[in-house]
Amino acid sequence: MSLFSKVAKKVTDVATFIEEHASASTLKYMAGNDVTHRLYFPVHIDETGKPIPYVFEAPIHTWGSNKNNYGSCMCTKGIDDGDKFDGSCPVCDRLEDASAIVDYLKAEVDAACTLTGDDRTKYLDEQGKKIWGDRKVSAARSKYYVALAMLNCGKDGRTLADDDKPKFTIKIAAWTENSMMKILTALTERDEEPNIGGLEFKLKYGSQPELASRVGQVAVTWVDKEKMLVKPGTPLAAEIAAALENFDFEHSIQLCRRETAEKTPAELQRQMDKLFQAWDTYKAELAVNPNAKYLECAGTAVITEKAAPPSGAPAGALISGPQAGTLGGEVRSGINP
Ligand SMILES: [Zn+2]
Repeated sequence: MSLFSKVAKKVTDVATFIEEHASASTLKYMAGNDVTHRLYFPVHIDETGKPIPYVFEAPIHTWGSNKNNYGSCMCTKGIDDGDKFDGSCPVCDRLEDASAIVDYLKAEVDAACTLTGDDRTKYLDEQGKKIWGDRKVSAARSKYYVALAMLNCGKDGRTLADDDKPKFTIKIAAWTENSMMKILTALTERDEEPNIGGLEFKLKYGSQPELASRVGQVAVTWVDKEKMLVKPGTPLAAEIAAALENFDFEHSIQLCRRETAEKTPAELQRQMDKLFQAWDTYKAELAVNPNAKYLECAGTAVITEKAAPPSGAPAGALISGPQAGTLGGEVRSGINP
């Protein structure tokens, strides 16, 4: 059997394949930059005949640093199908190790810091937060997957744009609990039920360079029912309803949000073992050599004798470097070979 026949997957439906790959990027809702998004949350009828918005909540683990998300997956804890899923979650199982690495790195920064007094406290506090933010894995947190119609409005989100582009695009947002709360708070502040279904919102994004800041500081306002562009009975409302007639919400989420791809505990175990390989090696060495060192993240703390200190950090302080090793297994042992 040739290698090709072993590795290649047959694409039986080319049309669907192309369409799905093209739609994955269109489907993904992304925060804006110096713009107001006008979003309408469509509804579908559930088993009890009630109109409800398209929202799924799932527990998601992420790993890698704040700036570089190396990976993410769904938490498999408690999912037991008697087959591939046995109720375990290898990511949850590594939370303690991730915290232990944080403690180790903080102790290193502390020992190497030559500052005194308030400077020292402030510096160690900042570095501690950074190390914590860059920890290898984090506890699963709720992500809310929400289907919405993003209206093609002008920059201020007031009226529909007068161009040839479609009047709306169906998107899938993946929001944290914080983002979700912001939207619901915009409703409850106006004494409305905290139900986004069939309602319209404006999300005003600033022009901060960091995406996280733009998301964190987005201003959410609820559009008065009278002023909605997608008022019930309008052609636009009918067009959106028609676009969602054969909408497969679950499949759409999986198309554009890679963390929702199915990973079994066995696969996650392999990934975690690789991610924590250097730590495991260090711990094994520590058992026989009390002077063993964990060097994988040594780049996290670099004494800046020659390099210019980062803004605000006093000379002689430690700066943060890229998290070494996380990208693919640079393993150095703390003892001489
Ligand atoms: Zn988990």
